[in-house]
Amino acid sequence: MTATLLDGTAIAKAMREDLRPRIAALAARGRRPGLGVLLVGDDPASAIYVRNKSRACEDLGLHHETTHLPATASTEEVLAVVERYNRTAEVSGILVQTPLPPQVDSERVLRGVDPAKDVDGFHPENVGLLVQKRPRFVACTPAGIMEMLRRSDIAVSGRRAVVVGRSDIVGKPMALLLMHADATVTVCHSRTRDLGAVTREADILVAAIGRAGLLRAEHVREGAVVVDVGMNRVTTAEEARDLLEPARQEVFARNGSALVGDVHFPSVREVAAAITPVPGGVGPLTIAQLMVNTVAAAGLP
Ligand code: NAP
Repeated sequence: MTATLLDGTAIAKAMREDLRPRIAALAARGRRPGLGVLLVGDDPASAIYVRNKSRACEDLGLHHETTHLPATASTEEVLAVVERYNRTAEVSGILVQTPLPPQVDSERVLRGVDPAKDVDGFHPENVGLLVQKRPRFVACTPAGIMEMLRRSDIAVSGRRAVVVGRSDIVGKPMALLLMHADATVTVCHSRTRDLGAVTREADILVAAIGRAGLLRAEHVREGAVVVDVGMNRVTTAEEARDLLEPARQEVFARNGSALVGDVHFPSVREVAAAITPVPGGVGPLTIAQLMVNTVAAAGLP
């Protein structure tokens, strides 16, 4: 079996296109959606994410503004920007790009975001609403994955789902969303014994680990749907040979690095029924879902 590719880029585009009429209707009522972004420090990956999110706003004609603070910023300085965004009418959604520098109290900052503008879904009030199955804003990566499953006609109800990873931003909300969609869900983490025995039970397997190519063919049941959230950079020729398909090895040879997921794509695509590639899978869905949440925020009473 060679897996069908779940094309995150195409699905994300469709999600964004579906937003255009709603954005036009909101703008006609004087409520153009807008995203306020806060970037602290000079992490190159964070800068790229922020640029991609700004581009997505521009493409949809949303208001967007970015505040860039130095890596030395204090918790108070970061909170002051959050509070300004809380009061700014043009900003319907606030995004605090993580990770924040170590001297900044991330928890206080995320709690400082007005829950009605918390388009990342990290505020405890929004997490609580999700737990109670009354979601308002749900973390963009797992919410985007659920939308991809829906749009790809992949049934969830009654199926066995295994989520590897239990972070607040991916693993936990992913497990809750799958459970609320009536899957039978198991969550694995670094202390799970015999990981393969658990993951092989999965009809739907979500990898959110942060370890390049950790899940290999022997971890996957024949015919499973595999969703790869991981984003890891391969920098050695040896890793590239193991983890990349021949076409992508050329990219590695040209650039000296390449992006890979947590799933060993060359072997898993031979056993799975469907799989998200990296890049071009979950990443674009996350940004599209951020746009969905920002538009929804503008429509809140
Ligand atoms: P994280 O906070 O570091 O969490 C990683 C999770 O994986 C933890 O729960 C950890 O277990 C578990 N884990 C680590 N090693 C393991 C092992 N050998 N076996 C089983 N479980 C293991 O990471 P995250 O923020 O959830 O992100 C995960 C990955 O997704 C990263 O590569 C990140 O870059 C990527 N990501 C991508 C997007 C996107 O839009 N595509 C969005 C967010 C994140 P413990 O809890 O026991 O430590």
